[in-house]
Formats: sequence, structure tokens, C-alpha cells
Amino acid sequence: MTKTKNVQKVIAPPATHMVGDGFRVHNFFPGTEEIDMVRMSPFILLDYNSLVEWPARETPRGVGVHPHRGFETVSIAYKGSVAHHDSAGNSGVINEGDVLWMTAASGILHKEYHEKEFSRKGGAFQMVQLWVNLPSDVKMSAPKYQAITNELMGKYEIPSDGGTIQVLAGSFMEVKGPANTFTPINIYNIELKKGTAITFNLDEHHNTGFLVIGGSVIVNKDNKVATNHFALFKNDGDEINLNAEEDSLILVLSGEPINEPVASYGPFVMNTREEIMQAYEDFNSGKFGYLAD
Ligand code: MN
Repeated sequence: MTKTKNVQKVIAPPATHMVGDGFRVHNFFPGTEEIDMVRMSPFILLDYNSLVEWPARETPRGVGVHPHRGFETVSIAYKGSVAHHDSAGNSGVINEGDVLWMTAASGILHKEYHEKEFSRKGGAFQMVQLWVNLPSDVKMSAPKYQAITNELMGKYEIPSDGGTIQVLAGSFMEVKGPANTFTPINIYNIELKKGTAITFNLDEHHNTGFLVIGGSVIVNKDNKVATNHFALFKNDGDEINLNAEEDSLILVLSGEPINEPVASYGPFVMNTREEIMQAYEDFNSGKFGYLAD
């Protein structure tokens, strides 16, 4: 017997702020009234650079060297290209449709800039950065890096040519996503053609939200969610119905909550205040390694 997973609230895009000089983001959480670092756990931060046109520039815009500890950063490119380097020696470029999944865990330094050629030409830019929390027993494990190009994603074709569901993490029906995760998570990009309706299931107890990247959908028959809006779901059922009012693209986040205390400050997310102080001490004493500017 299935039960509808109801929408708790549709959140309009908050005013933007800059991250470095290269990312103009709406922070949907933490920091909106409804969503702190617990409400969408294991997802603890969602920064969304809605579609923007960057003018050409020789020196790439971006965000310089900074640390992280205790969680994972997931960068999803919808338009434009971003280059990434970290102190574990990993580097790469994500282009339209690609994902970079960085497990900071015990500590890493990284920097993210617009890719050189993209910067030189300028153009359309649209990105998501998501922070995924780690359970306490793996917060201090070794850093890890997963470069997930678009062709690696699981693809579920919606019947009657209704669109495609790209599976980044977890599974949709029998289709699995390539990302290795530490806790049960489903992340999809749902491309839905105008007039298509789908019904699917996500665990009742998983915290769930949708970000509409493009287009407009009706959720569960009577909740309109337009471009750049976020739908937060209640944990009251497992069935969701989507109906596309126009060709649409929706980022779906759903995951089992990590029921542990959260202590966070700046780029560190741990379980206790002492662990945050230790993170600053380790960072200041060079234990996060080295990365050139
Ligand atoms: Mn970062």
C-alpha cells in the first residue's frame, strides 16, 4: 500500500550571494527558514548558481584554495565548465552534464575556477554545489575523488518518449547510479518532456527535495514548482507524482538521515565543538597538505 509523499513547502530562490568571484549562488540550505543542517540530512548545504551569462575574461573567475573536513562536496554542471584541483593531487574539468564528487573526509584543500577556454569565451553558466554529510565513523577517513562524466550515469528511459532519468547515486527502478556513497542516497536528474506524467517511489523516511533546474512541474496534482524553486517534501509517504507543464529538468535529492549531532563552522562539519577546534588546529599546522594558488 503506497501513500503520497506530500510537499511541505515550495521555496522561492533566496537572494544570491557570491562564492569567490565565480559563483553567484542561491543558498537553499542551511539558512532558509525551513531547512537547517538536520532537516535535509544527509544533505547539509545546497548552493545553486542559477543560469547566468558570464562575460568573457582572460583570468578565470572562481574560488581560491580553501579547506574542508567531515563531509563530501558534489559539484554538478548544467551549463559551462569548471576546473578543479585538490591537495590530494586530483584535478579535472567538469563540463555540461558532468559531476565531481569529492570526499573531503579527514581534510583536503581545493580550488574551483571557470575552465580557461570557457572563461576566455564567456557564456551560459549553471551549477549546483551540494554538501553531503558523512557519518561520524568515516569523517576522519582518507579523502576520495570521483569524476563522474555524464556517460557514466545510469539512464532510465521514460516510456512513450517521455524523457530520461539520469541516476547519479542510488537507483531508479533497476537502473543504478555510479556514485559510491557512505549512506543510502538517491540523486537523479529527471528530464521530463512537456505533458509527461510519472509516478515513482522514494523511501518514506528519507529526507527529500527537488530543485527545478529548468521548466515547470506540478507535484502531486496541485503543487506548482517553477524554474529555480525548491520543493521540500514531508516524510509522510513514499509515492510522488510529477507532471511536466513544459520540457523540464529536475534535480532530485533523497537520502536516509544521519541521526548524529552536527557541529559546523565555515568549511568544517563535525559532530562536536572540540572536533571543529581540532580541525582549525590541524588546518593551521599544515595537516591538510599543500595546494598552490
Ligand atoms: Mn569548497
